[in-house]
Amino acid sequence: MTAPRAQRRPKTIENSPAVRQMVKLVEPVDTELHPQPRVWTLTYRQNEVLAKYPLFFRSVHYPWTYSTNISHFGILCGGGWYPIIEALARKVESELRDLWREQIQFPERLAVLETARARGTSTFPVLPICTDITQVDGELKIEILYGSICPEDVAKRIGDFVEVAQVSSRYVCESCGRRGQYRESHWRRVYCDDCIAPEEPIAPLATPA
Ligand SMILES: [Zn+2]
Repeated sequence: MTAPRAQRRPKTIENSPAVRQMVKLVEPVDTELHPQPRVWTLTYRQNEVLAKYPLFFRSVHYPWTYSTNISHFGILCGGGWYPIIEALARKVESELRDLWREQIQFPERLAVLETARARGTSTFPVLPICTDITQVDGELKIEILYGSICPEDVAKRIGDFVEVAQVSSRYVCESCGRRGQYRESHWRRVYCDDCIAPEEPIAPLATPA
């Protein structure tokens, strides 16, 4: 028997200033095609997001090197969450650029990496990479492979960025990007009251006499 949904959700940083700021920053998405965005109208917008962060999303651009879910399917969530994904990708991309620059500043690190490569002991990938972005049970799921040169402090920062994005998604309408709420019944996604009318509270089941 599985635990109730509310209990299964980690709530460690839910009320943190970082999450409140993230929710405030999210702008509604204008696709110019529909009054409300639909996933199938977002190809152009999705390509724009993926192109802006070429290191983090390199598996999408070089699928023959990186066989990942995102290289096959792209971003699998509504456009309302794209600003959350962009904010995360911007911060991670900057970390990746710093990480790569460091290798050049410290040739011994490059030597260690190349020795490992020559001996076949280096792990894949060299730089952290996004492998999957999807929606599961009303929450943004972002998967990352950290690879062989990512120090613990950088991995921790990237992990925190991911957690902030995931927690923010619980309060942002996946369809349009306005403030939203998780819909418990059959939708099982986060919507604002304009996209999907608020749910009636679910009455407890009557106990048989
Ligand atoms: Zn909405």
